[in-house]
Amino acid sequence: MRFFIRPELRLEYQKSPAVLRPIGDLDGGVAVFPLAHERGRPLKFDIRPGDVVPKFSTIAYPPDDTYDDCGLLMPFSGRVLEIKEIDHPALGRVPAAVLEPDKGVNPRVTVSYDAGYLTADELLALAKMSCIIDSLDGVSLYSKLKALKENTADLMVVDCIEDQTFSSALIRQLIEQGEEMAAGALYALRAAGRRLGKVKIACNLKVRGKIKKEYKGAPVEFVKGGYPLRDRLEDRFGKSFAAVGGAALADFYRFLSYGQGQTSTVVTVAGNCVKNPANVRVPIGTTIWSLLKHCGLSDEPEVVVLGDALTGAAVTDLSAPVTPHVRAVLALTRKKERVVSCIGCGRCIWVCHKKLMPNAIYSDLERGNRKGAAAFGAEECDLCGACSYVCPSKLGLAHTFETFLKS
Ligand code: SF4
Ligand code: SF4
Repeated sequence: MRFFIRPELRLEYQKSPAVLRPIGDLDGGVAVFPLAHERGRPLKFDIRPGDVVPKFSTIAYPPDDTYDDCGLLMPFSGRVLEIKEIDHPALGRVPAAVLEPDKGVNPRVTVSYDAGYLTADELLALAKMSCIIDSLDGVSLYSKLKALKENTADLMVVDCIEDQTFSSALIRQLIEQGEEMAAGALYALRAAGRRLGKVKIACNLKVRGKIKKEYKGAPVEFVKGGYPLRDRLEDRFGKSFAAVGGAALADFYRFLSYGQGQTSTVVTVAGNCVKNPANVRVPIGTTIWSLLKHCGLSDEPEVVVLGDALTGAAVTDLSAPVTPHVRAVLALTRKKERVVSCIGCGRCIWVCHKKLMPNAIYSDLERGNRKGAAAFGAEECDLCGACSYVCPSKLGLAHTFETFLKS
């Protein structure tokens, strides 16, 4: 009998110095606000150029009740300059509002809720009103809690895993907002009808003793191993748990405590062209260019990536906006590497956690043989990007698979 040991994809983390610095704030200028859900689905809106809209007002809505998606909130008080179509690297072609801040306009008056006295249904309805999108996957908190209501899991895992190379937004938020995350997780469990549920926090980086052992009684468990680490959550927490991003849970706590829904997000700005790598809290809709300007550029970037190195998308238009699903913006220079053919080394097969043969799928897709690629299981690929990362020929494997899966 032969035993194969699957080597893990060990990434060389480049999270310092951003993860060591406190989260900064950026009051961006003009913002470009996509009027679409994170997965590119269109939303209804009735704002027009010239409208003055207070912060926290709902400016886009799901078109009908069949949508589990929630609406979108105005990220700051300001004026609508223009409604136009944009080509966003993650959302595709969607309508967007160009917004200009106006400090003379007061935010919409918000109310806090005495969450301890609310029923599960009331909490769930508030999760919908909060318009919170989970930065991990772009799915609304409301959809996740509705799904949790239907199953039997009574463990909520606060997911603060940042397993790609540069991102540290969730880890830094855990350091600064761990109590809020744990409190939000308890409310989220109650919204799904679990009064006696438990909360645990998953993280993958020890930051010089800055992460506590527990927050509000919820223990922090460090998940170790190779990329992608989320595959290991079942080994660690068993089969019956729900995982929600820590940022979304902290936002839920803040919504219940202060009535303020999600209007901003924390983004890691890093890469070898960034002068001051940092985690920055920005209004949703802030342009990539404003973020890069805020952190400074030490060099002219050859590539700017929206997202992290493995799964991010290269952007050419720096006026593209940050959406709640974006946890990193990278500005990089790279050595010009000549793309050569597949040399059959098999590294992509070894690292594929879905046990696919990326080289075979790629070869079929390059020859236009979609049926052949499907027979090799191309549809099971989750675009983790590990195969592209290890390929010595620098073939755009994951990018090719993404194009196939989208078409
Ligand atoms: S991108 Fe797809 S094929 Fe490549 S390693 Fe990840 S799951 Fe496997
Ligand atoms: S890692 Fe790249 S070169 Fe090696 S087999 Fe896979 S596709 Fe070919």
